[in-house]
Amino acid sequence: MRMVGLTGGIGSGKSAVAQRLEALGAVIVDADKIAREVVEPGTEGLARVAEAFGPGVLDPSGALDRPALARIVFADDEARRRLEEITHPLVRGRTAELVAAAPPDSIVVNDVPLLVEKGMSHLYSLVLIVFAALPTRLDRLMRIRGMSRDEAMARIGAQATDEERRAVADIAIENDGTPEELDREVAAAWERVCAA
Ligand code: ADP
Repeated sequence: MRMVGLTGGIGSGKSAVAQRLEALGAVIVDADKIAREVVEPGTEGLARVAEAFGPGVLDPSGALDRPALARIVFADDEARRRLEEITHPLVRGRTAELVAAAPPDSIVVNDVPLLVEKGMSHLYSLVLIVFAALPTRLDRLMRIRGMSRDEAMARIGAQATDEERRAVADIAIENDGTPEELDREVAAAWERVCAA
């Protein structure tokens, strides 16, 4: 069992890399997906979030109203800390379950958007980071994800810088070219992971 971390700034192509790694045989553990799962309707996580922040964080169907919760924790560090005290142990527990369920000789790739921001690189034997130049990222976020230029710049600016990412990257995947070039970049990175 090898524990690999994968990250990259928004629009870098991290998800595109995760898909390719999965096709090459990696077991992908998706941190965003787990973070959503632990507060799905019917979970202990959602019950505790509603208890802590009130029924205003639930939508009429009883699911988490993410924008409402975001408004509460956005400007209030104490509220954010309380939220994380509820969700982080649940995310860690579910992550550990998924890792434990992977076959013993697996290479587990943990897809973690905020790996660098949260200082998590020590959790992995190897850290893979996807890079793309600012114009490439802006183009993807605006053209494919429909963001405005300001929104895309704000999302990029709220994350770690490329310098901060380079400082913890064991393997860098450059993604400014075509999908076929990315196939080759990822295949080369996977060979290095397997050989490490
Ligand atoms: P991230 O997860 O880093 O935010 P994604 O992997 O979702 O980024 O990529 C953003 C968008 O750009 C997606 O629609 C993806 O298919 C596209 N994309 C990623 N890499 C390439 C590439 N090399 N060529 C063309 N489109 C790409």
